[in-house]
Amino acid sequence: MTQLKIIVIGGGAAGFFGAITCAKTYPNTQITLLEAGREPLTKVRISGGGRCNVTHHCFEPSQLINYYPRGSKALRGAFTRFQPKDTISWFGAQGVKLKTEADGRMFPVTDDSTTIVNCLMDTAFSDGVKLMTNAVVQSVSKTSDGFEVVFKSGNILKCDRLLLATGSNPLGYRWAKDLGHTIISPVPSLFTFQIKDVRLRDLAGVSVENATVRLLTPDKTKLEQMGPVLVTHWGLSGPAVLKLSAWGARVLHEHHYKMALQVNWLSEYNSETLRQELITIKNEHPKRKVFSFCPFSLPKRLWQSLLSYLKIDIELIWAELSKNSLNQLVQELTQSQYQITGKGVFKDEFVTCGGVNLKEVDFKTMESKICSGLYFAGEILDIDGVTGGFNFQSAWTTSWLAGKAMGAV
Ligand SMILES: Cc1cc2nc3c(=O)[nH]c(=O)nc-3n(C[C@H](O)[C@H](O)[C@H](O)COP(=O)(O)OP(=O)(O)OC[C@H]3O[C@@H](n4cnc5c(N)ncnc54)[C@H](O)[C@@H]3O)c2cc1C
Repeated sequence: MTQLKIIVIGGGAAGFFGAITCAKTYPNTQITLLEAGREPLTKVRISGGGRCNVTHHCFEPSQLINYYPRGSKALRGAFTRFQPKDTISWFGAQGVKLKTEADGRMFPVTDDSTTIVNCLMDTAFSDGVKLMTNAVVQSVSKTSDGFEVVFKSGNILKCDRLLLATGSNPLGYRWAKDLGHTIISPVPSLFTFQIKDVRLRDLAGVSVENATVRLLTPDKTKLEQMGPVLVTHWGLSGPAVLKLSAWGARVLHEHHYKMALQVNWLSEYNSETLRQELITIKNEHPKRKVFSFCPFSLPKRLWQSLLSYLKIDIELIWAELSKNSLNQLVQELTQSQYQITGKGVFKDEFVTCGGVNLKEVDFKTMESKICSGLYFAGEILDIDGVTGGFNFQSAWTTSWLAGKAMGAV
């Protein structure tokens, strides 16, 4: 029997994991992994601030899918077959232990992404995957008995099955399109908000534990996230903002990253409950100065900046706070508006939403429903998660499924 030839294009997380899974499942196949760069796994290396946030401590597929602004429906079944628990066991079996941080993110115990890079490289090597670096693929076409892959150098390779794992590279999208697929237009996800506002001036580094941020979208779609918010030199960041950027990636892109943002700095209150609380404080602490006595777990610098913005006198005591000022303070704390003027970079993680239309892929095998023998895995698909290890998890899951299926005869 002739040996099945498989080519995987893209030496990133998905390409490696797909190639390794296939090699382990079908030891008699010939697997060639093509990477354009001099080094493979470059994103894994820089991921999670150099520590690689491999996955997330969430083991219930029905909960896990809630972290994916795009792809949740398709991933539901996929996660019943390969989910974070399986990722942990898989790396464990290769001798790589993962640990969980307080917020659920999981990293190698070494806190070093090199551990993950080396693990994938060594495993691919020992399982017989042939890795070719500096292998820039220029075009891909379907032939009567498989696929033809043409390199920039002019060389040609042929294979029976092809896995596209080219991430967000435009060439990968183009080949998928040429092979009959629709591409949902790619736009960035996971970014910070650029905001120039006097209230945030000089507050870089200040963080609020539990704020609610809400995009005031023109069509009134409710896009809201709760969690820590961090003031930066350029605007706002932190987990709540990053999550909101992911859910709002498309609408923000459509509006050129210009949109109003509503902030409730005290998520536990709404305007009515806060008004009552401030009246109680006024009665209980009438002699204390408003500026120096912040009754909430809010950074002092932010509290004072908001009071200055409202032109509340630095010497004013709580008893002297007028009804009007109290109402303004309620508004400022629970429904203040800021203008987003652009998109900033979150250096620890970013990802592209959009890609190959999921309806055209069989999520049991990751094979194209349009072009037989063609498989997809990773970021090339129209899947993206919020920050926290979810993007790698979808890459592990989709490539594992592809690897399990693409060597079958
Ligand atoms: C700075 C940063 C930090 C991140 N941190 C995290 C994190 O901690 N946790 C997390 O879950 N996610 C993180 N992500 C997201 C995560 O890296 C991606 O979701 C993941 O890498 C996608 O894997 P992939 O294999 O699909 O694509 P990629 O990793 O992009 O790999 C695609 C590969 O294909 C190659 N390629 C492209 N075109 C060609 C061609 N024509 N010929 C040959 N090869 C080609 C590319 O060179 C590349 O190596 C981070 C992203 C960034 C940018």
